[in-house]
Amino acid sequence: MAKKTVADIDVKGKKVLMRCDFNVPLDDNRNITSDDRIVKAMPTIKKILNGGGSLILMSHLGRPKGERDDKYSLAPVAKRLSELLGKKVKFVDDCVGDQAAAKAKALKSGDCMLLENLRFYKEETIKDKAAKEDAQLRQAKDDFAKKLADMADIYVDDAFGTAHRDNASMYTVPMLMKGKPRVIGFLIEKELKFLGDTLKNPGKPFVAILGGAKVSDKIGVIENLIGKVDRIIIGGAMAYTFLKGNGKTIGKSLCEDDFIDKGQELLKQAADADCEVILPVDHHVVRELAPGVQYKTAVGDIDPGFQAVDIGPIAAQTYTEKIRDAKTIVWNGPMGVFEIPPFDTGTKAVAMAVAEATDKGAISIIGGGDSASAVNQLGLEDRISHISTGGGASLEFLEGKTFKCIEILDEK
Ligand code: AMP
Repeated sequence: MAKKTVADIDVKGKKVLMRCDFNVPLDDNRNITSDDRIVKAMPTIKKILNGGGSLILMSHLGRPKGERDDKYSLAPVAKRLSELLGKKVKFVDDCVGDQAAAKAKALKSGDCMLLENLRFYKEETIKDKAAKEDAQLRQAKDDFAKKLADMADIYVDDAFGTAHRDNASMYTVPMLMKGKPRVIGFLIEKELKFLGDTLKNPGKPFVAILGGAKVSDKIGVIENLIGKVDRIIIGGAMAYTFLKGNGKTIGKSLCEDDFIDKGQELLKQAADADCEVILPVDHHVVRELAPGVQYKTAVGDIDPGFQAVDIGPIAAQTYTEKIRDAKTIVWNGPMGVFEIPPFDTGTKAVAMAVAEATDKGAISIIGGGDSASAVNQLGLEDRISHISTGGGASLEFLEGKTFKCIEILDEK
């Protein structure tokens, strides 16, 4: 059943506590380098404010270690929010406590305030498993969540990037607000629609493209996708764990030796399910990875002393062809060390192929910050059906997991 959204409830005169994902990248001077996550929260924010609600926004930013660290302050986000909304968003430099509670109480219809980083409190990230085993931790997490929950009449979750976590603000707060409206925002609604509906009913051929550093991160995804997809295209460092298992020489390319057997097992499972797995047949290799370093192309085996840093031209061409006729595409992870040109060539070729297939009617879903930034760098974002705001969350979705913090919210 579908979840209720902010469009299904009356917020007039109500205080709305909204969990956002304002985990934006900042430069050394704490300037926001991409406001994408703030922009994507605007439709829900505007809906609530225009509907006469008052908004208490909460989020985390980065990984402060459970204590105040100004480097991770959300103050720059409040400033950007004010600019985007065209009105002042009050910033409260604590997320709980007397000051936050008093300011929440004083909010008038149409007012908006942002609380300071939730992760300045270690209680935010106490895992439910740990809380179950330790009464003190449980009490601490509940007390912290109660302070947040007590500020509002309505709970809204629009933080897809943290949907796979059982953080206090994501799970404990809505649990404590049982009996009050608890709904999703438009961003999560869109994520669920694309990831959920598309995967339930994919157009064929359905092609998954997986890359990035570690095969161990993607085992659950591969297991879940075998049997659903027609092809799995593998690039990035994770390819070398499979290739070594296949008997190839991989030089000093990254490899997770502990997962070689698992990799072989997955290849067998895929073959049994008639799911084609495509690995790179050639590679750009270097002696040492550094910007501007000389590289050569290795076909098949990689010489000792060399490391693969990108798929080679034959692989890029093959991948492009294997993507061309796709009707559904999911892509997570770069094909090489794309941060260091020219080792972004394979990733760019894949990005272009995904955009071209989308132009011809494929549904394309990109999860994961690196693949998304490759697409953005190439200016292809408008030619992709959906770029997920949650790298980890979208991966867990592709693994077939459900999110308990969303499950507990109101059904339509
Ligand atoms: P992930 O977070 O698992 O999606 O991995 C992304 C990272 O994988 C990026 O920082 C890439 O630089 C890195 N990566 C991709 N391909 C390779 C490769 N062949 N060798 C080393 N690192 C790679």
